Amino acid sequence: MPPKGRIVVKEIYCKGCELCVSACPQGVLALAPDRINSKGYHPAELIEQGCTGCGVCTVVCPEAAIVVYREVKARSQSGA
Ligand code: SF4
Ligand code: SF4
Repeated sequence: MPPKGRIVVKEIYCKGCELCVSACPQGVLALAPDRINSKGYHPAELIEQGCTGCGVCTVVCPEAAIVVYREVKARSQSGA
């Protein structure tokens, strides 16, 4: 099963450049068509499930507007 992740876009910093949208290998990002931030840009948002938490979007974002969280599986306590 692929790893699971989620992102938080700090919308106030987003300038709608779409670099993250183009770079996301899962194709789960888009600019929100119905919202505009205080700078007048449509901010990026997660549009569907499938984020793996790979971090590519946060690396390419020139505004450091994306925080990525990745699910961490608990290690087995059995010692097996
Ligand atoms: S962390 Fe990876 S999969 Fe998730 S939105 Fe960003 S680029 Fe896409
Ligand atoms: S790369 Fe950053 S600034 Fe550009 S659209 Fe994505 S979140 Fe916004």
